[in-house]
Amino acid sequence: MDAKHYNVLRDDKYGRYLVTSKELDGGELIFTDQPFAVGPKAGKYNTPPLCLGCYCPVENTLCSRCGWPVCGAQCERDPQHIAECEIFSMAKVRFQPVADWTSSAPQLDCITPLRLLLAKEKDPERWRQELEMMEVHTESRQQRPTWSMDQVNIVDFLVDHCKLGDRFSKETVQKACGILEVNAVEIPSRGGFSIRAVYPRLAIAAHSCVPNIVHTILQDNYKVEIRAAIPIKKGEPLYLCYTHALSPTIVRREYLLESKFFNCDCPRCSDPTELGTHLSTIKCNKCDNGVILSTNPLDNDAQWICTEKTCGFKTSGGAMRKMLAVVQAEVDQLDLLEPGPQAIEQREATINKYKSVFHPRHSILLSIKYALAQLYGRVEGYSIDELPDLMLERKAEYCRMVLKTLDVITPGDSRMRGMMLYELHAPLMYLARNEYSIGLITKDKLKERLQEPLQCLADAARILSREDPQSPEGITGQIAAQCLEQLKASLEAI
Ligand SMILES: [Zn+2]
Ligand SMILES: [Zn+2]
Ligand SMILES: [Zn+2]
Ligand SMILES: [Zn+2]
Repeated sequence: MDAKHYNVLRDDKYGRYLVTSKELDGGELIFTDQPFAVGPKAGKYNTPPLCLGCYCPVENTLCSRCGWPVCGAQCERDPQHIAECEIFSMAKVRFQPVADWTSSAPQLDCITPLRLLLAKEKDPERWRQELEMMEVHTESRQQRPTWSMDQVNIVDFLVDHCKLGDRFSKETVQKACGILEVNAVEIPSRGGFSIRAVYPRLAIAAHSCVPNIVHTILQDNYKVEIRAAIPIKKGEPLYLCYTHALSPTIVRREYLLESKFFNCDCPRCSDPTELGTHLSTIKCNKCDNGVILSTNPLDNDAQWICTEKTCGFKTSGGAMRKMLAVVQAEVDQLDLLEPGPQAIEQREATINKYKSVFHPRHSILLSIKYALAQLYGRVEGYSIDELPDLMLERKAEYCRMVLKTLDVITPGDSRMRGMMLYELHAPLMYLARNEYSIGLITKDKLKERLQEPLQCLADAARILSREDPQSPEGITGQIAAQCLEQLKASLEAI
């Protein structure tokens, strides 16, 4: 039996939202949800053509029946693709050849709305009970340029070109677009590519930039499991974070307004220091000790001023956004590097370049440190047993820095915490052993020092055991469990 430990309430601020129906322990399963529809993201998120069965990137391989992108014969028969395949074949509407198979493909924008509509036909009862009343923010969406693009690429395309007018009205298709735009979540596909899905129950959970629930996607059927991240009292609202947890306030609030149509005023957004994490804090270059903070983080255009009273440096919210966007674009390039010595060295260079601009725990620097914490010990020339103590210490320092921030912004068990705890165990273990081998610490001291990595592994294994066993996090969880057994055995042998 699936768990169901929630009730649905309604108020003016959140609309519908979820509260717990009983007291929950951290890690406890609250409910599961099946996606109503799964499919590619919209072209405006820069998704190149991908296989409509498995979502891997494709080039020039098309379905032999309908002429839309699939990677091979097996995916032509994928249950995800069969229904639309029939519609495209019947209407003789083929995917138009593209010159560049790596650039965004708005032709695929119709796929997920079509799948949502076909799911509505198949399960009208669930549509009526769970999707009909979903937020679609029609008035706000009508103001945007994407509205007329959707009208052409999706609504007119499906109704007129694909001859679905007798099955779906243009209003219904536009409603499907709205449901997706407002309620869909980004999920990893089986192959690790980013796609989107609508989970009707999960979509009711309210947002906070300090969430109290976590969700795990199972890869074989994209079912989602929702768990308590921390202990939650009976009757408390369940909060999911709809945006990237490590982003700074300006970026999170802009994303939430753009894609979810609300202005977040959660405790983290309201605090210029982001609850003391300093994810948004800039260093002042006009004085020695000042930092620059927003005078009102709930207003994106508010001024930013130096905290040092005698300094008085000021800048505009607009200038701050522009500066962040420029640096972020540079940092995004780092993610394109293959894992190798370059991936480490270029990240270290970027930290050096910006260490006088940002607080050491600013989102930009912390994200790079998060990546480095995973790269040290993993790539050629930087394998864990050839890292000098100095670098082992740095790896441990970056892990602790990320964990300290996670304590505040995603308290309790989260994937990111599990991954960082796993990374932290290795340098702690190697540093202790190195010190013992050169006679710096006694045998008893070594045993004592190995308790912390032991605990890191136990926590990482526990947190990550909830992830899909095929996902990168699930695999790390299994490795953590093995390392835990090995470390226990070697502790007994000391
Ligand atoms: Zn495929
Ligand atoms: Zn097909
Ligand atoms: Zn917020
Ligand atoms: Zn200053």
